[in-house]
Amino acid sequence: MKRFTLFIALCLTLAACNKKAAEYQAELFVFGTVVSLTAAGTDEDTASKAFAEIGRQFQVLHRDWHAWDPGELTRLNTALATGKTVTASPGIVDLVIKSRQMETMSGGRFNAALGGLVALWGFHTSQYPVLGPPPATEEIDKIIRSRPSALDVEVSAGGLTSANPMVQFDFGGIAKGAAVDIAVQILREYGIPAAIVNAGGDLRAYGNPGGEPWNIAVRAPAGGIIGGLEVRGDEAIFTSGNYQRFRQDDERRYAHILDPATGWPVEGVISTTVIAAEGWRADAAATALLIAGSQAFAQTAANMQIDAALLVDENGGLHLTPAMANRLKLVDSGAWQIFEHPGTNR
Ligand code: ADP
Ligand code: MG
Repeated sequence: MKRFTLFIALCLTLAACNKKAAEYQAELFVFGTVVSLTAAGTDEDTASKAFAEIGRQFQVLHRDWHAWDPGELTRLNTALATGKTVTASPGIVDLVIKSRQMETMSGGRFNAALGGLVALWGFHTSQYPVLGPPPATEEIDKIIRSRPSALDVEVSAGGLTSANPMVQFDFGGIAKGAAVDIAVQILREYGIPAAIVNAGGDLRAYGNPGGEPWNIAVRAPAGGIIGGLEVRGDEAIFTSGNYQRFRQDDERRYAHILDPATGWPVEGVISTTVIAAEGWRADAAATALLIAGSQAFAQTAANMQIDAALLVDENGGLHLTPAMANRLKLVDSGAWQIFEHPGTNR
């Protein structure tokens, strides 16, 4: 996305909101998606001030964290490739630390240091589908053989230094989650007792508007919804999909989530959905589970300390952890072949 645009549509009257308790809403267009903000149990002035603050901060994050538009992250990547120590904003340092943690917990499936590979596949674009054949195997192998890892990067008071010149950060699998967390923090700072931050279906919600928990729809790959669930306290629910962003040639589609072990997109999985306490964790875990596939799904979720997760496979199979099976109310259980994966050891 080239330009950041911000438009706020405040829901001004109770009647227009069409809800029991007063809810205020705003929409931002950022990170290549529409982010909709909903606040309840507050007043219009507080809601609009909090929304404006979120808009301001998102504008900065959008610029700083962008994987290919020139900005802080591209400047950082240029320096890392030459082995120089480079200073980074607290926000980027935080993303590096969180990415390292998720890389370790996911057994290397989540890897934010593979920006070079994502770029090679042509996925540093907003124009989908990307047309044409996959990159040359030698080019893919060259990156994979060098094993770029967020753990190659040393974080010190002086800045970031990479021992591996092939490390190129791309926070596409975690940044949206981290941004949603920042928005929730702002809403709480303004004393708003209940809110939803929804970034194109990936969201974090907290509080009990009008005494009832929020009800959230879990997106279905082909559009529509798989089911609904009630938010408990403060939770993030994120979906990763292999169905919207891909490269296409005459033969097949190549999805934008790449397996760090092979450098190629994973096959057989359509989408994954994760519930976690924080957005960044849910976002990164959903990406990692997509790479894990249905076989390694339950153990990988447990390794990442994720209780509630689901995976949709390309044969109409719905794979659920026990905690997800308990919570998700399916719209049409007959539409799926359901696999409940037994609990695994953490
Ligand atoms: P979406 O919300 O688009 O389904 P994700 O949250 O799963 O996406 O993030 C996908 C993005 O993450 C890709 O566009 C790319 O920037 C980055 N990415 C691709 N493969 C990996 C990986 N193995 N680990 C971490 N990030 C990845
Ligand atoms: Mg993700």
